[in-house]
Amino acid sequence: MWGGTILTDQLTVRAGRKGVKVVFAHDTDVALAAAAALVNTEQPDRDELADPAGLDAFVASWGWTGSRRHDREELARVVALRARLRELWHLDEEGAVRLVNEVLQQARALPQLVVHGEEGYHLHATSPQAPLADRMAVEAAMAVADVVRHRELERLRVCAAEGCDDVLVDLSKNRSRRFCDTACANRTHVAAFRARRAARAE
Ligand SMILES: [Zn+2]
Ligand SMILES: [Zn+2]
Repeated sequence: MWGGTILTDQLTVRAGRKGVKVVFAHDTDVALAAAAALVNTEQPDRDELADPAGLDAFVASWGWTGSRRHDREELARVVALRARLRELWHLDEEGAVRLVNEVLQQARALPQLVVHGEEGYHLHATSPQAPLADRMAVEAAMAVADVVRHRELERLRVCAAEGCDDVLVDLSKNRSRRFCDTACANRTHVAAFRARRAARAE
């Protein structure tokens, strides 16, 4: 995983991966963003995980460390996990809890504080030798466990733009984020503006 410092004081914001703000512990924020990014690799018109090279690119862009197989089986397991993780954005609290516990149990997750590289202490709950899909699953499950404990499950949302099914994690202070990216936000705002102007012109 990417690590970072476990923050006991959420106001103590430390530099993290660009674009990831701190609401939960830093490693939770990053893990949630990575889980959303994994779900969003599946698009209506293309699959970014169509082949092992796509998975390599995803793993590199999110800085996953640990063992890799670079084969079709590894890819298939990550793609299967992707569908399972998408559920998290649609489940109620009870459902999310069940899924999180299932994932942690199946992977025999064992949380340990570790420190490596330039990162401070953070939690790993799998060994670096565990299969990539298991490490990704546990990483996401640990993060969602954090979200549930904070009663913040509503921060996991589907993009509000028409025709976009991308998932997002709202890490804004005032819980105001509705769109997966600025393109979806702009498209929606322009459509609303045109609708208002058309209504006035009538
Ligand atoms: Zn780490
Ligand atoms: Zn969107």
